[in-house]
Amino acid sequence: MQAENSSKDGGEPPAGNRFQALKKFSSAGRGYWHDVSDADWNDWRWQLKHRITTAKQLQKFIPTLTPEEYAGAKLANTKLALAITPYFFNLIDPADENCPIRLQVIPKLAETHTASWEMSDPCGEDSHSPVPGLVHRYPDRVLFLVTDRCAAYCRYCTRSRLVSNATGYDFHPEFDKQIAYIAAHPEIRDVLLSGGDPLLLSDDKLENLLSRLRAIPHVEFLRIGSRIPTFLPQRITPELCAMLKKFHPLFLSIHSNHPRELTTEVRDALGRLADAGIPLGNQTVLLKHVNDDAEVMKAHLQKLLMCRVKPYYIYQCDLISGSAHLRASVRTGLAIMEKLRGHTTGYAVPTYVIDAPGGGGKVPVSPEYVLSHNADRVVIRNFEGKIFEYPEAADGRPCGRPPERIEESQLV
Ligand code: SF4
Repeated sequence: MQAENSSKDGGEPPAGNRFQALKKFSSAGRGYWHDVSDADWNDWRWQLKHRITTAKQLQKFIPTLTPEEYAGAKLANTKLALAITPYFFNLIDPADENCPIRLQVIPKLAETHTASWEMSDPCGEDSHSPVPGLVHRYPDRVLFLVTDRCAAYCRYCTRSRLVSNATGYDFHPEFDKQIAYIAAHPEIRDVLLSGGDPLLLSDDKLENLLSRLRAIPHVEFLRIGSRIPTFLPQRITPELCAMLKKFHPLFLSIHSNHPRELTTEVRDALGRLADAGIPLGNQTVLLKHVNDDAEVMKAHLQKLLMCRVKPYYIYQCDLISGSAHLRASVRTGLAIMEKLRGHTTGYAVPTYVIDAPGGGGKVPVSPEYVLSHNADRVVIRNFEGKIFEYPEAADGRPCGRPPERIEESQLV
């Protein structure tokens, strides 16, 4: 079944309308599951139980499945499991083998090819883990991996070594050890829960975990990283939101990559989270044929604002093994950023970052706006390419000549 916002005749909308078509909110629809009751369809546990997990199911639901995809799906469980919720599956265009949704969740044989520069742990997380399931890479914050399960699996996942347990990583988060480490390190003021997807934990289990973290006096700030709002918006229940709002300040970073992921169901789910006072950010991974196009990216970012989500990061795709076929170039990423800054609302412009290979942390990369900078002045260009000079400041005050020639009496 095709998403309702796709062109009905399978063709591209006229060029001038493409941007508006990308920004339209539509329901994912029911597709093959049209006879399922509303109660089941809107039940997140039903969605999880009925995920597409095998090559055979894929072939049944997508008759145009390519040999490359079929082979990828057969081999998926040796690398990163295949799982797609029925809800998210409905966003796939079965007539388009380059459908941006399809590319993100349907495996391809190319995943089994590892380039010499690719790694199983490209961000060096394991080498920065003082206890299993906790990554202490930055001075004042930690990444707390609470599960290895996700609602669906992204084929470019930077943690594919551990999520879904396809490669036998043997992930057993021991919350007691992780919490004891955080409690013993007063410099940790910020805890990011991730995984896997923390929102797959039951409300009770998540509440217990958040309560234990909130009881540590030096933990000022809690964050959850989750792809659930886009893979499984049914999970964002009023009960979950009511529970989360007890732990403010608590922020939530969602993960979405393409404007078609932002359906009416997702917008409603994000609205429930926002109404619970949870500040929302979005993380996007720059992916070839998915969002490596300035118009698609801009539509996505503007649509996020309409969902009350601040675009936070665009990530250059990590050097995870088997992801070369999905990786867009840094050149493309910079060209997209150039078409965002100044061309749309500043709130819609995220920071483009490369996670430095091997564990160097996030490094922001940006088109060059400072053309030269010396003791006297800064030469800058704006988004239209116009050049300007700004006098460098002396003692914090702008001046029009070299600071050393300024007498105190001349300063106003
Ligand atoms: S949801 Fe996140 S952790 Fe899970 S497969 Fe996707 S990128 Fe990986």
